[in-house]
Amino acid sequence: MTLNRSYIVGNWKMNGALADGAVLDAIEAGIAEQSGVDVALCPPATLIAAFAQKAKAIGIGAQDCHAAPSGAHTGCLSAPMLKEAGARFAIVGHSERRAGQGESNTDVAAKAQALFNAGLGAILCVGETLAERDAGNAIAFVTQQLAESLPISAAPDWLTVAYEPVWAIGTGRVPQDADIAAMHAALRVTLVERVGEGGQSIRILYGGSVNPANAAQILVLTDVGGALVGGASLKAETFLPIVAAAAR
Ligand code: PEP
Repeated sequence: MTLNRSYIVGNWKMNGALADGAVLDAIEAGIAEQSGVDVALCPPATLIAAFAQKAKAIGIGAQDCHAAPSGAHTGCLSAPMLKEAGARFAIVGHSERRAGQGESNTDVAAKAQALFNAGLGAILCVGETLAERDAGNAIAFVTQQLAESLPISAAPDWLTVAYEPVWAIGTGRVPQDADIAAMHAALRVTLVERVGEGGQSIRILYGGSVNPANAAQILVLTDVGGALVGGASLKAETFLPIVAAAAR
């Protein structure tokens, strides 16, 4: 991982079927001409093995993992299992899991550490609610969330951070450029405090309603190392222009 390369990651959430391998093919064909950008997709777990077998240039990741390597955890998937299926990394701490499954910062740190232990990368998500932003607490809240969610082994070669304001996910609303830049700068400080100088080269992605119309403007902001993309990653027509905007 290097800050010289941008990183565009699609999160398909609970969408997609085997037939959508055609979308993967179209994205791969489209990124062949782009340079300076790493591209990854996180399909639902049911598609990881099939997509990992097909994918050549696109890294396939999972959307979550359990903190334990195995055990009595019905319905869950461990980091070693995801690795065996072909995942290279997983998202942890997405706000939809923090809110929907009650995941705490401690849970997220344990999941990220489990990924490291299995030899996988992690994309660790943080972000404030609208209430926290309106109260003027966004930076304090998100930097504390990151500090408490970072695993012991945090390091630039396997960890990516994603700043995703909860109120911007799937809503079409995006923070002001200055607010994104201020948050990324604050997260950088937190990373350096926790990891040392290595924290300078951990990529910090922005996520929340990124689309072909706004990607270029967001991706040039200082300390924005790429984007985590939900809805616009489901179709090659909307994902590829975002990748093109990140190409260097
Ligand atoms: C997400 O869920 O990570 C996300 C950024 O979604 P969207 O792009 O649809 O806002």
